[in-house]
Amino acid sequence: MRARSGYKCTLFDGTGSEYRAEVAEILPKRVRLWILDRQVVDRELPFRITIGAPLPKGDRERFLVEKLTELGVTVFVPLVTARGVVRPTAAAVRRLERAVIEASKQCGRNRLMQIAAPTALPSFLRDHATAEVRWLAHPGDSRRETTAAGHTPDASNSPPGRGGSDVAPGESLLVPRPDAARAAAVGPEGGFTPEELQAAASLGWRCVDLGPRVLRVETAAIALAVKLTSH
Ligand code: SAH
Repeated sequence: MRARSGYKCTLFDGTGSEYRAEVAEILPKRVRLWILDRQVVDRELPFRITIGAPLPKGDRERFLVEKLTELGVTVFVPLVTARGVVRPTAAAVRRLERAVIEASKQCGRNRLMQIAAPTALPSFLRDHATAEVRWLAHPGDSRRETTAAGHTPDASNSPPGRGGSDVAPGESLLVPRPDAARAAAVGPEGGFTPEELQAAASLGWRCVDLGPRVLRVETAAIALAVKLTSH
């Protein structure tokens, strides 16, 4: 809106290239620019992070995608889960893709976070079964302790194998390789079902407790992304 001829700006194409450019001509609905030079600038994490989560309602889906873009997540997968309420539409995916571009402009990310097609949880768990780090956000023991004075949580919600070793079968006890792919899933507002937890555990996904408070889907997804970034 403020640009005039001669104004310098940076363009990006979403694949890692940036272009220094100068405004040549401003037309009613278009701007013509001269590209001065091209640079490849890497602002990506050294590993891939895939986050799957059911789409939260209203503006919260945009917030989620914006923050995951800023944090450097590679792929966001809208998840379809047993207790999920809405199945994301193609229009929702396009809306999220636009939000990725806006967030990228703001934070200077020049490689776009990919928005995958809506995927059913069992496929997501299988598709990423080879990721070296596989996490499922699920409230665990810390929450159970604090609910003692309130309601009794559903014990059948505990994933199999919890309580003893924190490491799922197939997951290395060692710190992951620096470039190891990382994947994580968040459940819907109603949480994962015992069957979903069982399916995840049998593919070596590990439950991660994010503290004794119930987080919204978008908060859990952002917290997971941060944890995976520093893992
Ligand atoms: N009603 C559900 C909570 C749903 S919150 C229950 O009582 O279990 C939506 C999703 O966010 C959860 O499925 C989980 O993936 C994630 N989440 C929320 N709070 C969390 C916490 N404290 N630790 C781990 N995951 C959490």
